[in-house]
Amino acid sequence: MRERELNFQGPSPLLYLLATPIGNLEEISPRTKKIIEQADYIACEDTRNSGLLLSRLGFDKKLISCHEHNEEAASQQIVSLLKEGKKVAYMSDAGYPAISDPGSRLVANCLANGIKVATVSGPNAALNALASSGLDSTHFYFHGFLSAKPSERDQELNQIKVRKETVIFYESPHRISKTLLALYQALGDRQAVIARELTKAHEEFIRGTLKEFLTIDEATLKGEMVIVVEGDHSEPVVSEEAIIQQLKAFLAEGLRSKEAIKKTAELLSVNKNQVYSLYLASCKDDQ
Ligand code: SAM
Repeated sequence: MRERELNFQGPSPLLYLLATPIGNLEEISPRTKKIIEQADYIACEDTRNSGLLLSRLGFDKKLISCHEHNEEAASQQIVSLLKEGKKVAYMSDAGYPAISDPGSRLVANCLANGIKVATVSGPNAALNALASSGLDSTHFYFHGFLSAKPSERDQELNQIKVRKETVIFYESPHRISKTLLALYQALGDRQAVIARELTKAHEEFIRGTLKEFLTIDEATLKGEMVIVVEGDHSEPVVSEEAIIQQLKAFLAEGLRSKEAIKKTAELLSVNKNQVYSLYLASCKDDQ
């Protein structure tokens, strides 16, 4: 275990991760603005996008580019600055850094160098979509983007299809129709929600089933989207063999046939009449 130190006390430097608006600029928090104001450098996924955001907020800050393709090298620079005592915060283009965005390698490199990390809360497309979806949010599985390669995408979907939790996907508009078809083919007809243009003027929630979504005109699916799909709620199919085996086990324990049938039906969540028929066909003569 690493030595403990409170994030906002103690001598080790600290990298701030800033969650930024996913559309509506008003979702920038006072705390985020305060951290930006105090920062010597803002490291960001895209200096043009973040530069624009910062200038809209009235800041003129030194920027460091840290994206998918230079994250390793940029991390070293950021680590050095933090060790020199400079204040650095990192933001991706929108939402949380490290959530389907660069940032996790930067965080790992900071931690490996004894630098602490704190996240300043803010918007996240997946959670906005899930919370308004109306689907079960007790447990959920965030998948983010499916692979762009159809064979890998289908493999991923094959693993996802047995999950009981609500599943969250990110998708870009140019692939949405293909993805919706792949989702229907792999997962079957399930309740789902397309959350489009969250927090923006044209925010929309399209609620229906994956099969119904196949009829949507692709031209109307513009902008950014999250797809939320209900988990696998299909009843598990219990084989006749498993029912007979359980029945025989109860009968072998000495239970009377009526009791064995009732307990088998309860245990395996199957219909009592089905168990009775199997009893007549397979167990009665053994007794
Ligand atoms: N880091 C971001 C977050 O915390 O939500 C996600 C960035 S990921 C590169 C971009 C994807 O997030 C989009 O393709 C879309 O699936 C989803 N997304 C981002 N902003 C959105 C919005 N305003 N409405 C719907 N989906 C959005």
